[in-house]
Amino acid sequence: MTEWWEKEPLRFECQVDCVKCCVRPGIVHFDRTDIRKAADFLNTSPAEFKKVFLKRDGNSWVLEVGEEGAPCAFLTDQGCGIHPAKPKQCESYPFWKENMDSKPMWRLVGGFCPGIDIGPMVPVGTIKSFLKKFTR
Ligand code: SF4
Ligand code: SF4
Repeated sequence: MTEWWEKEPLRFECQVDCVKCCVRPGIVHFDRTDIRKAADFLNTSPAEFKKVFLKRDGNSWVLEVGEEGAPCAFLTDQGCGIHPAKPKQCESYPFWKENMDSKPMWRLVGGFCPGIDIGPMVPVGTIKSFLKKFTR
């Protein structure tokens, strides 16, 4: 089945100085690869990284954001402090399955994310690879 977003170009460009994703209360999933990548980037071990930053949520490891209004622990004045090693959840936003299910849903997400519907066209192949990358 052809998805709605394969029939019309989608535009997206993350906006400089917008950190709405990183201050919104919620959880950020880190799978084993995400943990290793971020730990390597911070020159620490996966075990230490988990101990310091993450919590167990069932079978997953997650970072809690927004507790008592605090932003993500990795947010700095210059943006994401682990940008080259950010987890797949952050890397693939806003191209998450739940956001792409329908055009009205995409429009709704656009009400939160100012990067939606502006900037360069995102190739369908890139969208598909994001959808494959982050599944939960
Ligand atoms: S809300 Fe959108 S524009 Fe803002 S930081 Fe997140 S992805 Fe970028
Ligand atoms: S890991 Fe980086 S991109 Fe993801 S929420 Fe935290 S600061 Fe934002």
